[in-house]
Amino acid sequence: MIVGVPRETDAGEARVALVPDLLPKLTAAGLTVLLETGAGALAGFPDRAYAEGGASLSADVFGEADILLKVRPPKLDEVARMREGATFIGFLQPYANAATIRALAARRVTAFSMELMPRIARAQHMDALSAMSTVAGYKAVLVAASRLPRFFPLFMTAMGTLTPARVFVIGAGVAGLEAIGTAQRLGAIVEAYDTRPAVKEQVESVGARFVELTLDTEGAEDAAGYARAQPEEFYRRQQELMSRSVAAADVVITTALVPGQRAPVLITEEMVQGMRPGSVIVDLAAEQGGNCALTEPDREVVKGGVLIIGASNLPSTVPLHASEMYARTVTNFLEHLLEDGRIRLDLEDVVTSAPLVTHQGEIVHEAVKARL
Ligand code: NAD
Repeated sequence: MIVGVPRETDAGEARVALVPDLLPKLTAAGLTVLLETGAGALAGFPDRAYAEGGASLSADVFGEADILLKVRPPKLDEVARMREGATFIGFLQPYANAATIRALAARRVTAFSMELMPRIARAQHMDALSAMSTVAGYKAVLVAASRLPRFFPLFMTAMGTLTPARVFVIGAGVAGLEAIGTAQRLGAIVEAYDTRPAVKEQVESVGARFVELTLDTEGAEDAAGYARAQPEEFYRRQQELMSRSVAAADVVITTALVPGQRAPVLITEEMVQGMRPGSVIVDLAAEQGGNCALTEPDREVVKGGVLIIGASNLPSTVPLHASEMYARTVTNFLEHLLEDGRIRLDLEDVVTSAPLVTHQGEIVHEAVKARL
């Protein structure tokens, strides 16, 4: 079977779905790898490195591949070029991408959405969302530090003492915890908040202060460990209670998400106006609508001297390691699907069935189908 790795064509996307180091894993499983010329170039992996690892190069892989590994969802013209019955593995943004999902089904592509991988221990090494959240959380802090008109750490100099920056992290899942760790390594004073009660201990265990809010968060977590959507009144009260922490912060990193929903608005325009000029908000929820009311995805907005960065694809700005991490998750998943060098789907296995969106001409994922 031929595994095709196309060049990513979305503006600003520098990642690639396969890195040269993983080629032996695929060839040992009996697969042939076909890489689109230049696919790894922006991530720091030249064609030569893939060729040396045994991959072939081609100007267009869509029509030849039995299995496609990709980072971003395919374009409609790319779906039209895919072989009927091919397998696609990549991010699909399945709840926001109706036309692509329908086109994949019509093309009889077996399409897996890496966003829908179950969060269970057995699938941890295939968890692309966690891998990318780690990169995003780290880079969000560096972006904030580079735009903040002050230092992060405490400086005691002959010219006097400079106080450390205060960082407030809202949402302490994978990205938030990574942001906390990175901000602390840079010497900031870090506070965090999350609606899931279990997070308090995790925040404290990495040395940050958990902000206590008098909110009823019982039931804020679902059985899978994700946040549950809350009524508007809950968010209104949360905004009110958090406004002091937001006003005191030099940097606010927001990561709060509820799967399959628009991100909750937790920082209002009024709260932004309460912040000191020069403060920075990095909104990692930008692609899902943003946690700050003023966020614009992929844009920077300045309001009352406060900079709001709508960061929708930070992993692409650390493309080498982000590609390595992502490629591991997709190749681990592909290995999971293989039996004697061919794809065999065991639909009784949740690791196979949970991320499966289209198969044999149908949209088979119930939640995605319902949303479309
Ligand atoms: P996510 O990206 O869906 O959300 C980010 C964080 O935002 C979450 O912690 C969520 O509770 C928080 N949030 C939502 N609404 C909020 C609000 N109104 N105010 C403040 N915070 C809010 O979550 P994630 O980072 O993907 O992680 C979710 C959970 O899954 C975590 O418990 C994580 O440890 C767990 N997880 C498990 C595995 C595994 O077992 N394989 C892998 C990854 C993550």
